[in-house]
Amino acid sequence: MEAQKYKRVLIKISGEALAGDKHFGLNFDVIGPVCDVIKKCNEEGCEIGIVVGGGNFWRGVKDGGGKMERTRADHMGMLATTINALALQDALEQRGVDVRVQTAIEMNKIAEPYIRSRATRHLEKGRVVIFGCGTGCPFFSTDTAAVLRAAEIGADVILLAKNVDGVYDSDPAVNPDAKKYDHLSYMDVLNQGLGVMDSTATSLSMDNHIPILVFALSDPENIHRAVNGEKIGTIVEE
Ligand code: UDP
Repeated sequence: MEAQKYKRVLIKISGEALAGDKHFGLNFDVIGPVCDVIKKCNEEGCEIGIVVGGGNFWRGVKDGGGKMERTRADHMGMLATTINALALQDALEQRGVDVRVQTAIEMNKIAEPYIRSRATRHLEKGRVVIFGCGTGCPFFSTDTAAVLRAAEIGADVILLAKNVDGVYDSDPAVNPDAKKYDHLSYMDVLNQGLGVMDSTATSLSMDNHIPILVFALSDPENIHRAVNGEKIGTIVEE
């Protein structure tokens, strides 16, 4: 067994990453292989918390902006994250992984409420914990929720699984000469306005000294590489 660099991780999976090429809804051809790798990391002893996004169904500002009240639109986004949390739970359970979903907005018929001490107990027992509903508050993102939960559960690192393989100085989909960074400081990200995470999430991780590793989910094995400290993607730290 390889030595794991990180004992406890918080994986942030964006909703879009779960949709695959269709960019909407759930693509089980994507989710399955991702869950296979999460199971492998779990079996190797890594304690895993997951925050899921909801952008494959609904993003408050993008989809509701100007058409509806912002807070309500954000509530819809948080509900979307719960759909993804349940889908991930199911896929992991099908693989024999012990999983609990905890939501920041109580939905006690379908998931546990978020209780930090219970979440950490689950992790200690080797269960994967999926955090739904982001922070439970409108005007925030699931990236910020990922940092918040990482701080609360004492995660060693935030693994930010994206549709791109790291942080670039410009959009690599638009600029073929875009340069990828191996390492950035939080201040670089804030000062250069790099689109890795929103500024609230970046500031919160800076204040709490939690490194963020940004990498592509298109190769799910990257999750295992990241947990083992292989040099992939872009690391954002002090
Ligand atoms: N959201 C929110 N508060 C939170 C987290 C999320 O209001 O703490 C809402 C917000 O409308 C957001 C949507 O849920 O657009 C989906 O989350 P996000 O956009 O972060 O998902 P991702 O882009 O990672 O799929």
